[in-house]
Amino acid sequence: MRIVLLGAPGSGKGTQAKTLMAEKNIPQISTGDMLRAAVSAGSCFGLQAKSTIDAGNLVSDDIMLGVISERLGQPDAQDGFILDGFPRTEQQAFDLSDLLDQLDQPLDAAVLMDVGFDILMKRLTGRRTCSLTGKLLNIYYSSQAELDECLDAGGELIHRLDDNEEVIENRLAVYRRKTEPLVDYFRSRGKLVTVDADGTIDEVYDRFRKVLGMDVGSD
Ligand code: AMP
Repeated sequence: MRIVLLGAPGSGKGTQAKTLMAEKNIPQISTGDMLRAAVSAGSCFGLQAKSTIDAGNLVSDDIMLGVISERLGQPDAQDGFILDGFPRTEQQAFDLSDLLDQLDQPLDAAVLMDVGFDILMKRLTGRRTCSLTGKLLNIYYSSQAELDECLDAGGELIHRLDDNEEVIENRLAVYRRKTEPLVDYFRSRGKLVTVDADGTIDEVYDRFRKVLGMDVGSD
């Protein structure tokens, strides 16, 4: 299975990708995670990207093409992948199409995670990551027991620098301007499926499986 996850920041792409990755045994390729890893590693490229990411702007298409070509060429991506956060611009969509043509790996679907603005805000401002396990949590939606599990084990609930309100507003504006047009791009190529992404993680995942034809009785 080769899919792209489309949707605004906070629409739940990463959360659903992780569940799907576990079920289908294919990698979640999150360009945001890859960029944050480069920043943490302190590489020259990471340091250049840091201010762009912290401001909620997009890293250049040229750089992203390099990042994604390298990643899609790795052995674990040969039997399928879930692209989470790429493509984000029309140019990236063209680049991805060329790349997948070269690799002879056609895309199965682009899944749009559809969710309203108010919910996005709450999901983003409340989002935390457990420093020990990397588990995604939310101070508004996770149970106290889940939050305590991380804290009691000595972990911290990390708040991403770009998850503050001002930067979030910019990220959502960038999404509308640069990424939302990709909905029509994939629709016109017959690849778009839409999931109502308002609900619990399990509810959304059930819908997700359905639109991807993974419901009971198929694979
Ligand atoms: P994410 O974790 O997907 O929300 O990405 C965090 C940040 O990484 C974004 O706000 C951008 O600054 C950068 N980023 C991630 N993916 C891309 C991409 N495909 N193109 C450009 N910038 C990206």
